[in-house]
Amino acid sequence: MLPDNLLLTPDSGDVFMDKVRDTARAVKESFTGTEAYSGLTPQELKELIQGVEIFPDKGIGWDEILKRVREMILPHVLKVSSPDYMAHLHSPPLLESVLSELILSAANQSMDSWDQAPVATEVELEVVKTLCDMYGYSPLSDGIFTSGGSQSNLMGITLARDWYCNTHLNHDVKKEGLPENYNKIRIYTSEISHFTVEKSAHLLGLGYKAVRKVKVTPDQKMDISHLKCLIEEDIQKGNLPMLVVATAGTTDYGSIDAIDEIHSITESHNMWIHCDAAYGSGLILSDRYSDRIQHISLCDSVTLDFHKMFLLPISCGAFLLKDGSQFKHLTLHADYLNREEDEEEGYTNLVGKSMQTTRRFDALKVWMCFQSLGKDLLGEVINTTVGNAGFFYNQVKESSDFEAVTVPEISSVVFRYTGKGREGESSDDTNKRVRRALIHDKGIVIGQTVFESDVYLKLTLLNPLVTEKNLLALMDTIRELAI
Ligand SMILES: *Cc1c(COP(=O)(O)O)cnc(C)c1O
Repeated sequence: MLPDNLLLTPDSGDVFMDKVRDTARAVKESFTGTEAYSGLTPQELKELIQGVEIFPDKGIGWDEILKRVREMILPHVLKVSSPDYMAHLHSPPLLESVLSELILSAANQSMDSWDQAPVATEVELEVVKTLCDMYGYSPLSDGIFTSGGSQSNLMGITLARDWYCNTHLNHDVKKEGLPENYNKIRIYTSEISHFTVEKSAHLLGLGYKAVRKVKVTPDQKMDISHLKCLIEEDIQKGNLPMLVVATAGTTDYGSIDAIDEIHSITESHNMWIHCDAAYGSGLILSDRYSDRIQHISLCDSVTLDFHKMFLLPISCGAFLLKDGSQFKHLTLHADYLNREEDEEEGYTNLVGKSMQTTRRFDALKVWMCFQSLGKDLLGEVINTTVGNAGFFYNQVKESSDFEAVTVPEISSVVFRYTGKGREGESSDDTNKRVRRALIHDKGIVIGQTVFESDVYLKLTLLNPLVTEKNLLALMDTIRELAI
């Protein structure tokens, strides 16, 4: 016998409300201190989690499982909303957007076809139009929501490949697979661009070899003269320069490549330019800093992420295309899903533009957040976080026992402690040890990276509730832990 209240029905409404309230209370109660992490080691967590039978014959029921979540999970999740969490491009979600997730999961629309997502399809179409307009694209542009930057980058590189093979080699990759001279195709990106550029080259059958790493200048932007050299060298060798992937906000430094200069080069060689703005896309919200990414409008395609600077819950990303007709390279008609006659009759089946079939209604989060918070408030969020990074950088620069790599353009700062450490310990080891101690002893989580083979620390300041006082206190805590 199946129990009542297995699904959301008119009869289960009250039970649903109770469970939502219980769940919300459990979440609320988990927001206690300010620590970003409880401090448990990987071994301690393993012991905790291995202590329960995951799939018993008879279920333990809602009350019991919620109790376990309250006792075992919530105390040890990383508190992304804590001002002590400054480690990754991983956002503290806006309070209201957490509730958008409840709505979109309850509705459980699938964005592949209109008959699975009628109003949701129309919402996504309108949100995409708004985004195209925000980033300076013409009405010929188009886009699609994705699972995030990795998928958006893969889409950009896929469409660049198919466009290139069509227009330069008169070869249809969709039907014929890779052209004979596929191993001459080249992609250019800076040496600090996201690893998904190489991963995409691998997945697309081009291999890492196809990716030419362009050096960066001391401010961590693509070195334009080196880009020119590499392209010229490849043309000399008979290779096929296809694409430049520019980064608007590198993952570590937030540095923004000179998109306008790169665009002149891609234009003169009739190459595709894709912009990876997974990080920097959020600058568009700010009246003060949006001009830093204004040249995105020149790019053939762009990666946007809303689960980073926009503070929406994972997952939420989009891919925009300057010439929307290029989506044709992805389209495939299935009789049971997206009949060609549907389009003629005004039923949009978004699957034709996506790598996914079943797909989340993530556009709802953007739709709700933009309207609810408006440009003013979202702009203030960005101005605050970018301002914090500038403040921290200045503090580091003025301190004799810290150093930073470069002036932040967005909201991350790569820096290291250079003061006194423990007897016989290298500076790399001091910085590494301090970072671990911050996590396990202080509940403070910050990032770590490498610059010119030295270990550096990193703050990624997405949380607008971090204050200058927090940042000054962090510097003192690092000093204290170092000795
Ligand atoms: C985060 C990031 C990505 C990957 O995006 P996901 O949403 O994590 O898949 C790609 N490029 C850059 C520059 C990023 O910072």
